[in-house]
Parts: sequence; C-alpha cells; structure tokens
Amino acid sequence: MKASSPIVKHLVLVGGGHSHLAVLNYLGMNSVPGLAVTLISRDINTPYSGSLPGYITGVYDYDDIHIDLRPLAQFANARIIQEEIQNIDLDNKTIALKSRPEISFDIVSLNIGSKPDAFNIPGAQKFAIGVKPIDKFLQRWDSLLKDAIHNLEQDQEFTIAIVGGGPASVELAFATQFRLHKELQLKVTNKSLLNIKIISADQELLTLHNSKVRSFAKAELEKRNIEVILDTLVSAFEKGSVVCENGGSHSANQIVYATGASIPDWPGECGLALTGDGFIEVNNHLQSTSHDFVFAAGDAATIKGEPRPKSGVYAVRQGPPLAKNLVRYATGKSLTRYKPQQHALALMSMGNKSAIASRNNLFFQGRSVWSIKHNIDTNFIKKYSELPEMNSELSIAEGLVDKEMEQQLRTHAMRCAGCGAKVASNVLQEVLQQLPTTNHDDILTANSTAEDASMIKLEDGRILAQSIDQLKAFVNDPWLFGRIATNHCLSDIYAMGCEPHSALAVVSLPFAAKDYGRAQLKELMLSCTETLAEHNCALVGGHSAEAEELHFGLCVNGFIDEERLLKKDGMQAGDILILSKPLGTGTLLAADMRYKASHAQMQNALEQMAQSNKEAATCFSEYEATACTDITGFGLAGHLMEMLSANNVEVELSLSDVPALDGALESLQQNIVSSLHKDNKLVANDIYNHEAYASDPKFELLFDPQTAGGLLASVAEYKAEACLQALRDSGYSQAKAIGRVAKLDNDLPAIVLK
Ligand SMILES: Cc1cc2nc3c(=O)[nH]c(=O)nc-3n(C[C@H](O)[C@H](O)[C@H](O)COP(=O)(O)OP(=O)(O)OC[C@H]3O[C@@H](n4cnc5c(N)ncnc54)[C@H](O)[C@@H]3O)c2cc1C
Repeated sequence: MKASSPIVKHLVLVGGGHSHLAVLNYLGMNSVPGLAVTLISRDINTPYSGSLPGYITGVYDYDDIHIDLRPLAQFANARIIQEEIQNIDLDNKTIALKSRPEISFDIVSLNIGSKPDAFNIPGAQKFAIGVKPIDKFLQRWDSLLKDAIHNLEQDQEFTIAIVGGGPASVELAFATQFRLHKELQLKVTNKSLLNIKIISADQELLTLHNSKVRSFAKAELEKRNIEVILDTLVSAFEKGSVVCENGGSHSANQIVYATGASIPDWPGECGLALTGDGFIEVNNHLQSTSHDFVFAAGDAATIKGEPRPKSGVYAVRQGPPLAKNLVRYATGKSLTRYKPQQHALALMSMGNKSAIASRNNLFFQGRSVWSIKHNIDTNFIKKYSELPEMNSELSIAEGLVDKEMEQQLRTHAMRCAGCGAKVASNVLQEVLQQLPTTNHDDILTANSTAEDASMIKLEDGRILAQSIDQLKAFVNDPWLFGRIATNHCLSDIYAMGCEPHSALAVVSLPFAAKDYGRAQLKELMLSCTETLAEHNCALVGGHSAEAEELHFGLCVNGFIDEERLLKKDGMQAGDILILSKPLGTGTLLAADMRYKASHAQMQNALEQMAQSNKEAATCFSEYEATACTDITGFGLAGHLMEMLSANNVEVELSLSDVPALDGALESLQQNIVSSLHKDNKLVANDIYNHEAYASDPKFELLFDPQTAGGLLASVAEYKAEACLQALRDSGYSQAKAIGRVAKLDNDLPAIVLK
C-alpha cells in the first residue's frame, strides 16, 4: 500500500504450495523495494500433506495441519487473491481471473502441486475420491467417516478400496483403519467388518523404497488384515465398484485414489515446455525452459535431467533457492544453480503413532520414528505460522524526544487505514465550531456535521443530499478496496433514506512505473464503477493525484422528498434500536496489519464490509424508522451519541446483544485496537454506568471504528420484530435489536448499559 519506493515490477506467485511458503517468508524477511507481489491460490488455508495421516487418525485437528497464508502474505506485503487460475497469457503476461479483471505481471512463479493421475479414469470424479487436492479430500472425508461408522455400528460390512501403491495409499490405509477401529473401540489388528483393500498396478507396493521397507510394510499390512491386490490396472470407477482392465472388479462402499502425480492441462496449453511425462520443465534455476520469466517448483515442475519422486520434501527444499532466484531475476542478477538431493528421507505413518523411515537403503520403524516425524511436521507448520512482530516505521532524530515519547510516537506510527484513519471526533468538532459559516435559505443543514449528508432544498421541493468520504487503503488490493470504499461512500446517502444519483471520485495513487500505476487505477476504478452501477449511480467526474499511499473517496449526490428523509434526531421513547451489521472491522484490520488475523476472520469481515447498506435502508424506510445513521469511524458509541444529543431521550443498550464479527472480541482482548480507538473512547464518559461494564469483553467494541459498517436505526416497538426479519431476509444475517430508547432520566442524553 505504501509506496515510498515506486513499484516498478510485479511478481505473481500462483499456488500456495510448500515452495511458495519459503518464498513469502523470504520476502517478509528481505523486502525488495519496488517489487509488488501478488499470491493467487485456490486455498488460503493450505494443507500440509505430511500431517494428513495424523489428521485422519485423529491426532491432529484441522488447524494443526493447515498453514494460514493470510498472515504470511501480510508479512511479505503481498496481495492475496483466492482463486484457481486456469490459464496464463504468456505473450501478454496477463492472468485472467473469474471474479475480477485480469492482472498483469512481469514474473510468475508456479507452485500448484499435483493431483493423482487416476483423476482421468472414467468415473473418477463421480464415484471415487482423490486424495489430492487435499482440501477437496477433506471436504469428503467427514462423510466417509460417518458413513463407515454408521454401517459398522449396524453390524454391516464396510469396504474401502484405495487405488495406488505408493506411500500415500499405504499411509491412508493404516490411518483410516486405525481411526475406524478407534471409533469402534477395537484393536488395530482385530478382524472386523471393516475391509480395507489397496489396489495397485505394480507388482509390489512402495516400489521406490528399499526391500526392507517393502517387506516390513507388507508384513504389517497382513498383520492388520489390510488386503493388497497387485498387478491390477484400474480402468473405470462405477457406483460401488472398481473396474479393472483384466475384466475383474472389486466392490467397495467408498473408493479413494492416491495414484501417481499429474498436473492439469493448462500449463501446457498456455505454451510452457513440459517434460515427457507432462510436468512443467524447468532448468537448474527452477526457471521454465521455454519462458525465462516463468519459474516453477514442487510437484508441478521437473528439473530437466534431474527427475525426482513427487514428494513434499523436494518442494520444501526448492523454496529457498526459488525465492533467491525470483529476487535475483527481478533485480537483473545472475541466477544461482540448484541441484536437488539424490535421495530424500521419507517418513511414513502407520496410524498408531509409529512410523517407517526410508532413505535409499536405510530402514527404521517404530514410535521414535513417529516422534521424529511429528517434530519435523509440527516445526514446519510453526515456522510459517508464528511470524515476527510487526515493526512500525518511525524515523526521528535521536535526542529529540525521550524514550517514553518515542514509544508513544512509535505506537502512533502504526496508523490504521480505512475509517481508523479518521481525524478524532473531538478534534474535528473543536475546529468546525471555530469556522465562520455562510448560510443560504435553501441549505437545510446549518452545521455540516449534524447529519450524515448535507441537504439542499431544490426549487421543485426535492432535497439534494450530498456526502463525501475518503479512505486510506486498508487492504493490499485495489479491486477489493474499490468495492468496499465505494459501498462505504454510498452509505451516508442510504443512512438518510435517499437513493444515490451520481458521484465524483477522488483518487490518490502511489507513484509507480506507468504500467503498474495504470493497472492499479484500472482495477480500482472498474470495481468502483461496477459497484456504483449496481446502485444505479453514475460516476460523473473526479480528480486524481499522485501520493505516497493509495486513497480513494467519493462525493455522492442523492435526491429525496423531504417527508421521506431519515435523520439522526427522531428517536422516540419506547423505540427499539436495531443494528444491521456486526462490529469489529477496526480491531480486525489492525490485527491483519500485525499479521495476527486469520484468513477466515478477514474473509468474513471483508465480505461484511463489501455488503451494501442499500437493502437495510429500504427495510428501515419501509418500517418507518424514526431515526437512522451509519456506523463508521467514531464507532457505535460515538455515532449513537450523535443521534441522542439532538433529542430528549437516552438509550438502554444491551451490551450482550451487540453483534461482533468473528475474531473481533479475541482481537480486542489482546489489546489490538485501531489507532482511532483511544480517541473514540473519550465518549465513554457519556455512558452513564461505564465503570460497571469496563471489564465486559464487549465494552471495547463500542469504540471500535467501522469501515463500511452497518446502519443503526430506531423503530417503533411493534414493528421491530418484523423489521429485523426483513433485514435478515435481505442478507443481514447478524442484524440485531441492541437496545431501547427511553425518556431522558438526567439532564444530559446518555447511554445506559444493561
Ligand atoms: C496422504 C499423503 C501424504 C503425503 N505425505 C508426504 C510426506 O510425509 N512427505 C512428503 O515429502 N510428501 C508427502 N506427500 C506428497 C506431498 O503431498 C506433495 O509432494 C506436496 O504436497 C507437493 O507440494 P507442492 O508445493 O508442489 O504443492 P501443494 O502443497 O500441493 O500445494 C499446491 C498449492 O497450489 C494451489 N493451486 C493448485 N492449483 C492452482 C491453480 N490453478 N490456481 C491457484 N492455485 C492453485 C493449491 O491450492 C495449493 O495451495 C504426501 C501426499 C499425500 C497425498
């Protein structure tokens, strides 16, 4: 977002595989000023396959075997886009995306993994489950498990056929049997109604491993009553049956395939050189042999003249040299040679916290091998999940201030974006009150801060409502930022019950190479105009300038008849207060900036921010809301006080009913707050009984600044339930009644917590 050094090149990483983890980490540790980085990946929670058998047996939870790429990407200052790409235009250096405009790049790196080649066997996608992609396998594993347990508990036989004869099949067979026997409280070696069979086209299992490994695995499978069917090539999958080329078939309740690796057709179709067996051919620099600006690593790539088995060990090892070469290529330096190791250590889990170690002619097995595997796997996940603290940039000459002041300035330097970058309410009020005013008879809002938008009465009797907002980019993605910022800017107009008519844009674009700047502006303005079009609002003009950071704003015009206007100051005693969206964007954006927010939390928060207030405004108008505002930078308490101060009422606010975004309370409890939070909290003095609630986890949420927050409105009690239902039916699933308006008990309006 910040471009004190202009962006001149764009590196796109496709796939969040094992090698790109190291690339992101390297870029976080060694930033490359002037290089913009984008990660496009189908999964943002990327699974670590080495720990999959442990997940199946129940030793690990979902989170234990996944690496959340969001904090890692934030650490690397990389934009993150969740998508599965299906083509790269290598001539024009662009990547087409389904949900947004294409993006252009200078360098691209592919770490897209592989999937079992049985994927192409007829019936595979309909009647069988591929072990890779792992995210898809995991989506079906739970139902496989439930189905098996249900049948076995009813004393019915249950057969699982696993197609493939490599380590993945063997691990899967051991792990699945172990888990089901554990669920049924049976010993692993007990014969049960569960039949597991491994079907392989090879003459033996584990052909790439030494004879000691093979004979131990064979004996162990026999001991555990796992049937092994060799020399059998599968030709089709049918409902409940594996059809073989030799004419036979094997019936099974569930079929899983874990056969040799393959990659999709698109890398070849877009013109990349492939090896004879269909993988992306790279040289010893991990650089495509056909396109020097394309790099590839992991299962999807094969080094020319140095083929190795498709295993995570190699993908992991390729990460650091790939990172270095990507940076060296970008900066015009000669590339370093990478020679893959000849043999790698394979650690195969046997389900019962014991494992087999295999390397060249080496063989070990037992519980200690499993402990080693457990340590290696968990340390790998930790390495990319536990990131260094974020450093705030503060340069101030030594001796100018004392240490305490320096610390305060340092905290302040970590300024939030979005609505957290607003000027504090008290400062704004103080200055505005000192300004001379010029009034006209047709201006209905004497003081521009009193309402969400200014109002000018037109000669035909209608009101022209105008509002202006500008936001500093809070995500490293102009497209997403454009959509949320546009919604945010339209919100004041909706809060007044108006329909937007037209808008003028103001853009500050970070200084960059012309092509990159053009691409950023295009993404931003396309998402703005698309969002405006959804609201039937025309973009009629604007202004752009270069700046250090990306800012975007709109001045929006709307028209309405005076009697239909929604205002802040109409609350009536007895009304119910309804909030359309949950709170917490301020603390979550602050956590995201510090690499402490998860992908799931941010995805949910960003989706909420991207949700328009249009339908909420329609609901509130239909249910004749007596007052309405939108919740933005000054937080719920600040905006609520604005509604109260003009009226002789107070509000009993039910803290437990205030809806929070997932992760927001946890983030506030870790004291991660937006930089505007402290100023917003000054309004706590207007909360009558604030001391009694100061330790309530939700108390701080009242002061959290919201970017593209929801609408807050008061509705007559007898209409409140129907209004809430209408809001939920319109997609505001967390809309909530959060309090009641009461007659003023004291001299000054106040919020009373309940
Ligand atoms: C059950 C099982 C156990 C295994 N155990 C081990 C083990 O113990 N040790 C070992 O060394 N190996 C093991 N392997 C092998 C290992 O899974 C692979 O070799 C390894 O995952 C390859 O890593 P990678 O970096 O190439 O890609 P992956 O880790 O598969 O990552 C690919 C990434 O690319 C993304 N992606 C894919 N296509 C696209 C696209 N078109 N657009 C955008 N993003 C895309 C995916 O979402 C994912 O993030 C095991 C495999 C299985 C099935």
